[in-house]
Amino acid sequence: MNFLRIAAVSKSFGANHVVKEFNLDIDKGEFISFLGPSGCGKTTVLRMVAGFETPSAGRIVLNGEDITALPSRQRNIGMVFQAYALFPNMNVFDNVAFGLKVAGQPKAEIAARVSEMLKLIHLEHLADRYPYQMSGGQQQRVALARALAPRPQVLLLDEPLSALDAKIRVSLREEIRHIQRQLGITTIFVTHDQEEALSISDRIVVMNGGRADQIGVPADIYNRPATRFVASFVGTLNMIEATVLDQSGTVKIGETVVSLPEPIVHRQQGETVSLALRPEAGSLTGDLRGDTALPGKVLSTHFLGSVIRTKLDVAGHQVSFDTFNGPETRLPAAGEPATLRFAARDLLVL
Ligand code: ADP
Ligand code: MG
Repeated sequence: MNFLRIAAVSKSFGANHVVKEFNLDIDKGEFISFLGPSGCGKTTVLRMVAGFETPSAGRIVLNGEDITALPSRQRNIGMVFQAYALFPNMNVFDNVAFGLKVAGQPKAEIAARVSEMLKLIHLEHLADRYPYQMSGGQQQRVALARALAPRPQVLLLDEPLSALDAKIRVSLREEIRHIQRQLGITTIFVTHDQEEALSISDRIVVMNGGRADQIGVPADIYNRPATRFVASFVGTLNMIEATVLDQSGTVKIGETVVSLPEPIVHRQQGETVSLALRPEAGSLTGDLRGDTALPGKVLSTHFLGSVIRTKLDVAGHQVSFDTFNGPETRLPAAGEPATLRFAARDLLVL
């Protein structure tokens, strides 16, 4: 049985249909990310799980109990928000103790639990500090400890890292994942940052216009995007148009005939089909990787550190490919011709 079930949940605000028949089954202990652009309904789904919003239709079932109409305070769900929502007039200890005090727990138990939580987030030494005396990253760790202190059944994190600097963001996301694994707590993590979602999730729900476009493990979301939206939102994508020669999968890109890995069933001969290729799937250095070669011309090269991104024109399409930066790396310069090599099986037919 699934631990948390979101079944055909919809939400409208007036005529604005924000969430549309959203379905998701989450196992106990799973770390799920909601990934999607601003306004696609991520927070609204989270708020319905938390009980801050009531679905217009559908059901939410937690651990076998239908909680769709249950008031938020009876749901035993912990939540962390984007902006540091700590109580500014309380020190760290009192912030973390808050939920336990509300629940009427005895003083000694509260003290023990708060100290356990502060150890978990490595901030035992800051128990007396006030929020304004701490960095953003420290405040979010306290917010996490406060959410976890009452032993919630589910942890909801709504873009908890997006207000932080890049470096802190990476270290804190790893810390969150570590703590989540340690506690085995079922977690939904909302983000609009694809790298964040890919790096820490058991599964990702890619949301688009109030719907789940695709639900899958990170590698599947990246390697086998279910829709054009998922393909373009997650990762960088090169789009190349090709003409269908026959439906068994033979196409023409510019003047080059290419055999696709799968038949083309949804296009007729002579029609155009969009193909996509990831920047790391093509080689420009002349090593013989892949079974397909296309002539192109270099437009510009960009040194990005670990990789060099080359923009080139291939059959009238502007595409970008990455080459690892190494002592032997030799790339054609802007204005020079280049041969793009890749394996046809890496082409995504969209
Ligand atoms: P996300 O978190 O993915 O950025 P939200 O769930 O916050 O998206 O919002 C989705 C849409 O729902 C937006 O168009 C937003 O304006 C609208 N919306 C959210 N909450 C309300 C509300 N309480 N009343 C009216 N519209 C809302
Ligand atoms: Mg949001």
